[in-house]
Amino acid sequence: MKKLPVNKDAYSESSKKSVGFEFLDDYYEDKKYRCKKCYKQDVFTAEEQKNTFEVKKAYMWQQRFLCNVCYQEMVKIKKEMSEIEAGYIKDKETVICDKELLKRWLFLLKEYPKYWQRENAAQIAFVLKAINNA
Ligand SMILES: [Zn+2]
Repeated sequence: MKKLPVNKDAYSESSKKSVGFEFLDDYYEDKKYRCKKCYKQDVFTAEEQKNTFEVKKAYMWQQRFLCNVCYQEMVKIKKEMSEIEAGYIKDKETVICDKELLKRWLFLLKEYPKYWQRENAAQIAFVLKAINNA
């Protein structure tokens, strides 16, 4: 198994202050985990861990819980939702009358929590109402 040295200096400030920081292992090792969405087994590789904590500065206790496929899917859903939202803010009248777009928005809002992300209940209620009025 591949091992990579841990560079504690590269960790985020909040990680450095975290309980357990001083007990970090000296090496990253590939970690197996099961996806919470599709239950497929995936590996959080030593290389990905180094990149996550030392380059992207993720908080040290952040763990992987989605496989790569589900993670990419979740990011896609999030991106499309924020695009629709931005479109709505720019031109409320057009979006509010576009039943197909509203239905797509509702679908995305309902898919998102399946990836263990926070559900936006207020926005779901709003879009549902808009669909009924469109
Ligand atoms: Zn998955």
